[in-house]
Amino acid sequence: MTEDLSALEDFHLKHDLLGSIEVGILILDRDFNIKMWNQFMQNHSGMMPSTVLDKCLFELFSEIDESWFRQKCDPVFKLRSPAFIIWEQRNYLFRFPAYRPITSSVEDMYQNVTMFPLTSLSGEVEQICTVVYDVTDEAISKQRFQAANEQLQKMSRTDGLTGLYNRRYWEEQCEHEYKRSKRSGGNASLIILDIDHFKSINDNYGHPAGDKVIKTMARIITTAIRETDVAGRYGGEEFTVILPDTDADKAFVVAERIRKLAEHLPVEYEGKPIKFTVSLGVAKLDPSYSSHSVWIDRADKGLYEAKESGRNRTVLNK
Ligand code: GH3
Ligand code: MG
Ligand code: MG
Repeated sequence: MTEDLSALEDFHLKHDLLGSIEVGILILDRDFNIKMWNQFMQNHSGMMPSTVLDKCLFELFSEIDESWFRQKCDPVFKLRSPAFIIWEQRNYLFRFPAYRPITSSVEDMYQNVTMFPLTSLSGEVEQICTVVYDVTDEAISKQRFQAANEQLQKMSRTDGLTGLYNRRYWEEQCEHEYKRSKRSGGNASLIILDIDHFKSINDNYGHPAGDKVIKTMARIITTAIRETDVAGRYGGEEFTVILPDTDADKAFVVAERIRKLAEHLPVEYEGKPIKFTVSLGVAKLDPSYSSHSVWIDRADKGLYEAKESGRNRTVLNK
């Protein structure tokens, strides 16, 4: 076999290899002109090698942010070290359609991209080889996994009936606020409230009507507090609110606002108005409290006094 023939066979072998490989391969020179374009790139871009060869990458693919990509390739030329782009950073380098119309709703192919130096005989990096991996499946499953995790986390924090935080998560937040306020020396207050004679609401109108009252109560609380306040469903018809950066008098005003809204907003159930009231206890965080439980306990004592002294009232436990 002559040398020419073996060189030709070698060329064909490489050509077939690069053609059948399921990754995109393109070679760029220092001016980002395309010097090689494999079958994968042709298939997904719809551009023949004859169309792209010796053309500048940025003129052909307007989706590529030129200054960003040049910067990415800088160490490849200067330091001869490879560079990577991952889909989490940018979903793709080339905007190719994703060929998964049935299994997913994504339109574009997600890509990981590696750029590595091609060193000439003189030791200079004259060209870089860019390898484009289709990671759409991986990206979709990771995104689904993350979304499911977020959903689960949200569910684990939330009370199903009211959408407020559940007791466990609310207590975590309470402990957090206790520590934060103690450290900063700032104000923080707590409100704990319980619907009055709730058993008779259930007895007179039925459990679903009681549920509607609980839901309404949650909405009243949400409307009465600030965005930075943290409301939770503490028990059946018991609710709690953390008010960061709030002194006792201001917390008392908020509690009274909640009480009056409850008193004056009867719940409509099957055409009948259900009137209800709430009793509330308020306590400001005192630096002498040894734990957040003591703080909750102080507010609970206020609630107990409010119940004892006739209900439909707020008691500030100083
Ligand atoms: P008080 O004024 O002393 O608070 O009287 P009360 O009748 O409200 O007494 P208590 O707080 O002990 O009653 C709570 C009742 O709430 C008992 C329970 O059956 C009912 N309950 C607890 N969770 C739910 C719920 O999710 N839905 C409904 N409809 N009722 C609930
Ligand atoms: Mg009650
Ligand atoms: Mg109760």
